[in-house]
Amino acid sequence: MKNIVILGAGYGGLTTLKGLKKVIKNGEAKVTIVNKNSYHYDTVNLHEVSAGNISRDEICIEIKDIVESEVSFVQDEVVKIDTSEKVVYTKKQELKYDILVVGLGFETQTFGIEGMLENALPITDIKAAEKISERIESNFKKYAESTEKDVKDISIVVGGTGLAGIEFLAELIDRRKELCKKYGIDEKLVKIYGLDAAPVLLPMFDKEYSAYARKFLEDQGIEIILGAGIKGATEDRFIVEIDGDRKELLASTLVWTAGVKGSRIMDATFPELSKNGRLVTTQQLTVPGLEEIYIVGDCAAFIEEGQERPYPTTAQIACQMGAYVASHITNRLAGNTNENFKYINRGVVCSLGSKDAIAHAMGLKYKGFFAAKTKKLIEAKAINECTNLKTAIRSQRVF
Ligand SMILES: Cc1cc2nc3c(=O)[nH]c(=O)nc-3n(C[C@H](O)[C@H](O)[C@H](O)COP(=O)(O)OP(=O)(O)OC[C@H]3O[C@@H](n4cnc5c(N)ncnc54)[C@H](O)[C@@H]3O)c2cc1C
Repeated sequence: MKNIVILGAGYGGLTTLKGLKKVIKNGEAKVTIVNKNSYHYDTVNLHEVSAGNISRDEICIEIKDIVESEVSFVQDEVVKIDTSEKVVYTKKQELKYDILVVGLGFETQTFGIEGMLENALPITDIKAAEKISERIESNFKKYAESTEKDVKDISIVVGGTGLAGIEFLAELIDRRKELCKKYGIDEKLVKIYGLDAAPVLLPMFDKEYSAYARKFLEDQGIEIILGAGIKGATEDRFIVEIDGDRKELLASTLVWTAGVKGSRIMDATFPELSKNGRLVTTQQLTVPGLEEIYIVGDCAAFIEEGQERPYPTTAQIACQMGAYVASHITNRLAGNTNENFKYINRGVVCSLGSKDAIAHAMGLKYKGFFAAKTKKLIEAKAINECTNLKTAIRSQRVF
C-alpha cells in the first residue's frame, strides 16, 4: 500500500485529500495530512477577521470533522523535507512517504523594505488576522481614554492595494463605525490610507470597475495613494516616496498586504528550483526530476505550455490543482496515464464590504449587491470543493 502524505490543509491540500476519497476507501493507499493547526481557515476571508467584522469561528473548520476515518491527521508543523530519504520531519515526528503533496501556502514578502517585518502587520493567517483586529481596537481605546488625543491612534495605513488590500480597506468602513460608536469618537477624525507603488488600481479589472472600487472607498473618506513607493516603516509610520518627494504617513496601525511568497520550506527543500517559496512545476504539477512530489497552491508556480509567466496565486487555482493532483495520483496507482494540468480561469471578484463588490466572473462584468453575493457563492463553492456539501452549506455566508 502506498504512503501518501499531504502537507497543508489549505485549499490545495484539502482538495487533493477530497479527490483521493475513492483510493482511500478502496484501501489502495494510506493517506496522512499534516497541518500546523487543528483547523482549516478560509484564507480568502482573512481580511474580514483582520478588520474585526467577523470572528475566527465563521471561517474555521475543524479538520477532524471533515477527514475520513481512514485518514491520519497529524497536527504539527512541518520543519523539513528530505527528498532523498523520502521523509517529512515535523516538530514531533518523522513521516515516510511514497508520494508527497506540498500545499503549505504563503508567507509575507517585504522585499527587504527596512522595518516592514518588525513594524507592519501582515494578513497571512488567522492568528495574524486577529492580531490586526486587536491592534485596531486597542489603539481606538487608547485614543478615547487619553487626554492628548493623538490622531495616530485612530489612523490606519495599509501598504498594498491589491485584491487583499482593497477588500481589507473596504471592511474597515464598518469597523470604523462600530468602534467610533463604542468609544465615542467622531468618525470624521479617523484617517485610513491605502498605498501602492503601482500606478493603477486593480489592473485585473476593466478601468470602469477599478474606478468604481476607488470611488467606493474615497466616498467613505479612505485615501488611496498610488505611485507611492514604500521605503521604510517604523513603529508609527510608513516612509514613502511619491514623485520623487519623501513623505511620512503616521498611524499606530500599519498593515502590509503588498507582497506574498510561498512557504520557506520550499526554498530549503529545493534550493536550486524554488525561488521565494515557489517552484516552477512540470506540466503535471510535479517537481522536475522528482515525480513522486507534487506542488499545489501558492507554493507552485505553474507556467502553462506556450505561456511565459506563472498564473497568479489564488484559491481558485489552488483548488483546481488539488483536484488535478488527486486524479493524477488515482490514475497513476491504477497504471493509467495522465493529461497535463489545464487551468480554467473563472474570473475574479473583489468585495467592497458585505454589500458591494466588483465582478468579472463567468464571462460577465457586474458590480453591486449581486456581485457581493456572487463572491459569497464562490466562497461556498470553494469550501465544498475542499470539504463536503454539508460543511459548505453550514459555513456559507450567502444568506
Ligand atoms: C485577504 C486575502 C484575500 C484573498 N482573496 C482571494 C480571492 O478572492 N480569490 C482567490 O482565488 N484567492 C484569494 N486569495 C488568495 C488565496 O487565499 C490563496 O491563494 C490560497 O489560500 C492558497 O491556497 P493554499 O492551499 O496554497 O494555501 P492556504 O490556503 O494558505 O493553506 C496552507 C495551509 O498550510 C498550513 N501550513 C503552512 N505552513 C505549515 C507548516 N510548516 N506545517 C504545517 N502546516 C503548515 C497553513 O496553516 C494552512 O492551513 C486571498 C488571500 C488573502 C490573504
